[in-house]
Amino acid sequence: MLIVQKFGGSSVANADRIRNVAGIIAENYLYGHEVVVVLSAQGDTTDELLEKAAELNPSPSKRELDMLLTTGEQQSIALMAMCLEAMGLPVVSLTGWQVGIRTNSEYNSARIRRVNTERLRRELDKKRIVLVAGFQGVNNFEDYTTLGRGGSDTTAVALAAALHADRCQIYTDVEGVYTADPRKVPGARKLDEITYDEMLELASMGAQVLMNRSVQLAKRYGVELEVLSSLVRAPGTKVKEVSHNMEEMKITGIAKDTSAARVTVMQVADRPGSAFRVLNAVARAGINVDMIIQANGRDETNDMSFVVAEQDVEAACAALKQRQAAIGFQDISVDKDIAKISVVGAGMMSSVGIASLVFEALNDEHINIQMINTSEIKISCVIDAASADRAVAAIHRKFFEN
Ligand code: ASP
Ligand code: MG
Repeated sequence: MLIVQKFGGSSVANADRIRNVAGIIAENYLYGHEVVVVLSAQGDTTDELLEKAAELNPSPSKRELDMLLTTGEQQSIALMAMCLEAMGLPVVSLTGWQVGIRTNSEYNSARIRRVNTERLRRELDKKRIVLVAGFQGVNNFEDYTTLGRGGSDTTAVALAAALHADRCQIYTDVEGVYTADPRKVPGARKLDEITYDEMLELASMGAQVLMNRSVQLAKRYGVELEVLSSLVRAPGTKVKEVSHNMEEMKITGIAKDTSAARVTVMQVADRPGSAFRVLNAVARAGINVDMIIQANGRDETNDMSFVVAEQDVEAACAALKQRQAAIGFQDISVDKDIAKISVVGAGMMSSVGIASLVFEALNDEHINIQMINTSEIKISCVIDAASADRAVAAIHRKFFEN
C-alpha cells in the first residue's frame, strides 16, 4: 500500500516531536508500506522567518520572501531524515524543486500545476522512505514559490493524487474534526466521517483543521483524507465524498466566525442594476462578500446588507463611497461586533425543520438574529459577537446532547 502522510508544524516542533513522528513513519514502513511524507516547518518557524524579513524590509519582494519561507520546510525534512537514518532506516529528503512540483508564477500563493512522479517513484523503488518539503514548488522561471499559509496540506493531497496513493493521512495536534470547537463546547464529539462539502463549509468558517484548497483538491481528484493526531493513537476523521454517519445525524458541525463584519448600504435607489452596482464596486476592490440581503424600504429605496471579513471593511466602504453618485445611496453603516454562526450538514437536504430547530435554540437563549442565509447544506445566522459562544453551545445542545 502507498501511503502519503503529512505532519504539521506542531507535530515536528522539536527533537522529541520529530522522534515521535519518526516512530509513526517507521511503523508504516516496516509494515511493508511505501511511505511518502510531507512536512511543515517546525512550530512557529514560518512566522519567525516573516518577522526576520520585516526587520530588514517592510515590503520585501514576493520572490525573495518565498526564497526565505521555503527554508523552513527544508529544515524539517533534513532533520527528520537524520532521525530516521539514526534509526537505521533508508530515507531521502527532497525539496519541491527536486520532486518537480510545478506551480504557476504567483509567488506567496502559488497553485500547483503538475507533479512529476519520476523521482518519487525511483526513490520508492529503491525502498526508501521519501520525505518531501511541503508548501513549496517551482514556477516557470525556475524560482521557488510557496502555496499560501497552511499549504503543506495541499502538497500532501497533490502528491497523493499524482501517485494514486491508497491513503492520505493529515496528522495534526487535534484528534480529528469535531461537531463544534471542543475547547469551547465540552460536549463536542469527534466525527468518524465528514463529506468534502461539509468540510469545505466548516473549514471556511474557521474550523481550522485543513487548508480549504487541499479539500477542494481532494474532492476534485477523489482523494480520501484522514485527519488524525500525531500525539494520540486513535482513529481520526475521514473526509470523503459520501459519509455514512451511523447515528443519522442531521447536522455535522457548528462553526463560528467572529472575524466578520456587517456593511449596510442605506437607501439604495430601487431600480434595476442597483444591486449589481453595489456589489460590483466591492468586487472590483477584490473583496469577497457573503450573506447578501436586501430589505424593501417604504420609499423608492432599499437597504442592502452583506458580510465581509473585518479586515476588508475600510476598503469596502472606500470603494462604495467612491461610486456613491453612480450607485445612488444615502449612507453606509458598519457593525464589526458580529459573529456568523454556521450549522452544516449534508443531512439537511433530506430533512425538514432543521432551520426552525436552529432558530428555536437561539430563541431559547434570547439571542437576536440579524441576518439569515441558507444553502442545501448550511444555515448561517449573524448575531452579536458577545453571544457567539452561547449560541454555539445552545445549538449544539439542541442537536447533539438531548
Ligand atoms: N509552514 C507553512 C505555514 O506555516 C505551511 C504549513 O504549515 O502548511 O503556513
Ligand atoms: Mg499548518
